Amino acid sequence: MGTASEEAIRRICDHLGNDRTRLLDIVRAVDRRFQCVDDLALDAIASQLALDRAEVEGVVSFYSFLSTHPKGRVVIRLCDDVVDRMKGADEVRTAFETELGIRPGETTPDGSISLERTSCIGMSDQAPSAMVDQVIVNELTASKARALVRALRALPPGSDLRASLSDCYGDGNNAHDLVRASVRNSIRLRGPVIFAEYENGSGLRQSLAMSPAEVIRVIKASRLRGRGGAGFPTGIKWEHTRSHQADQRYIICNADEGEPGTFKDRVILTERPDLLIEGMTIAGYAVGATQGIVYLRAEYEYLHAFLESVLERRRHAGLLGRGILGHSGVDFDIHVRLGAGSYVCGEETALIESLEGRRGQPRYKPPFPAEHGYLQKPTVVNNVETLCRVSRILERGSAWFAALGSKASTGTKLLSVCGDCHRPGIYEVEFGIKLSEVLELSGSGHPAAVLVGGPSGRLIPPAEFDRSICFDDLSTGGAIIVFDRTRDLLDIASQYLAFFIHESCGYCTPCRVGNTLLKERLDKIRDGRGRPEDISYLENLAGTITTASRCGLGWTSPNPVLSTLEGFPEEYERRIAPNTDVDSCGFDLDASVQEAGRLAGPEGSGSHAL
Ligand code: SF4
Repeated sequence: MGTASEEAIRRICDHLGNDRTRLLDIVRAVDRRFQCVDDLALDAIASQLALDRAEVEGVVSFYSFLSTHPKGRVVIRLCDDVVDRMKGADEVRTAFETELGIRPGETTPDGSISLERTSCIGMSDQAPSAMVDQVIVNELTASKARALVRALRALPPGSDLRASLSDCYGDGNNAHDLVRASVRNSIRLRGPVIFAEYENGSGLRQSLAMSPAEVIRVIKASRLRGRGGAGFPTGIKWEHTRSHQADQRYIICNADEGEPGTFKDRVILTERPDLLIEGMTIAGYAVGATQGIVYLRAEYEYLHAFLESVLERRRHAGLLGRGILGHSGVDFDIHVRLGAGSYVCGEETALIESLEGRRGQPRYKPPFPAEHGYLQKPTVVNNVETLCRVSRILERGSAWFAALGSKASTGTKLLSVCGDCHRPGIYEVEFGIKLSEVLELSGSGHPAAVLVGGPSGRLIPPAEFDRSICFDDLSTGGAIIVFDRTRDLLDIASQYLAFFIHESCGYCTPCRVGNTLLKERLDKIRDGRGRPEDISYLENLAGTITTASRCGLGWTSPNPVLSTLEGFPEEYERRIAPNTDVDSCGFDLDASVQEAGRLAGPEGSGSHAL
């Protein structure tokens, strides 16, 4: 603890091989040790790695869990997501502020505690929640928040927070010695794929009895599609990756579950890590990769030691490492690497940039990772849920899997249901299930709206609750957020726009500036100051952001506006005064570009995409 010393930083860099691609790990370690990466540390790291200081500073400034300014010895990150606010996060924040005598973004005068807001930490089923360093505290109330601050103040510096703050642990592996978290799994419906009994190694044994090409054929025959939301066929992705000549290929598991309202990967990582690791191992065999990486979001760091122990156990059992299950030449091993707080790193090329020690800015595609991925080598990036299904498909066969779900959407899907429902949690359902059935299962009554797919998805009105959850109808990465009739849907859309504005990597103007303009105009309508022409302004600007942005964040960020305009036009109409004295024709591109320039400042003049 204390001021960074060049010697300590040199040791951290040496420990990580002075490897430029480990820059994120290095700055994480420095930030952890000294509560920030200050000027001295930036210079020392740059010198040690032979980098420009600006490059190091650029990485530190990109990730919300890192700082160039000193933080408290303990950092409380209060989840600021929509669902948390619905469950009382504002009262909890006020209690923290009062008890600590500081506001979010500040540190107590004695340097002991910092208070911050953060985006969804993957605990929407037990909101409001917060992180105290890496320790998760959930179902917070104002009185719990005050008690927590008093407990923190009573602890001697350097205390083990995990042991000191959690007096009871959650179910399953949440109570494991290496986890000891008060988190609950909230598994409400166990389906036949992820949560069925599974004998470790069974899928892997089946795969090693086949050639790699046959394994890919099995996955293609199962018609497995990626569960991250886009639904790209997994077998085809693997085939492309294998087809590119290279001395190394990589398997990356995207465990950067950042979509607000989604928490299914958290439960898989806690209760089904073997299924995931086995899926990665099978993928490695199929595409000819010997190395895998789990990119674990910083919010789930409390699972890191547990996951390492599972990897170690599998190495001892011959299920990972060299000569897997006695097959000479079949080598595959996995490392866990941590993010540092960035939603956009869930995009596969941004994730790869992050793994290479850079700012998590999405790359242009093509080339796709299957050809030029991690370290420019052919790389498979698969979702946690997708990889788990691989193990079961190899164990039970493609026909078994393809018989589940529907023709174009085979198998099951994990849904994270939260918001205004009596039974929030994880539901493993077959594709094709009606949204109304999910609402019935989760005790949601007759809600006003359901957000399918999180803020990048669509807000669905009651007239469409009979639609099906599948790739061809309501596609979702897993988030189902229920809103009852007391909720202000335009305010919710505004909060989600604020989320996208905060999480934008800032590379292209339509996303960086356009979403700010969109929110300003939406807020004007929400507050009853709207005019009829504001609707066409919103539609046109949303269209520009969707088409001119570079990555999925920008393409989908206007969805909270577009889907409320489409499904809930009355929410706009009732707040808009009739036009009596204005001759505006709505969207004025020139005026908007000028407005964009004003908001973007000097940096905005170098627009990359407009
Ligand atoms: Fe970054 Fe947004 Fe552009 Fe994506 S769309 S590259 S998040 S600025």
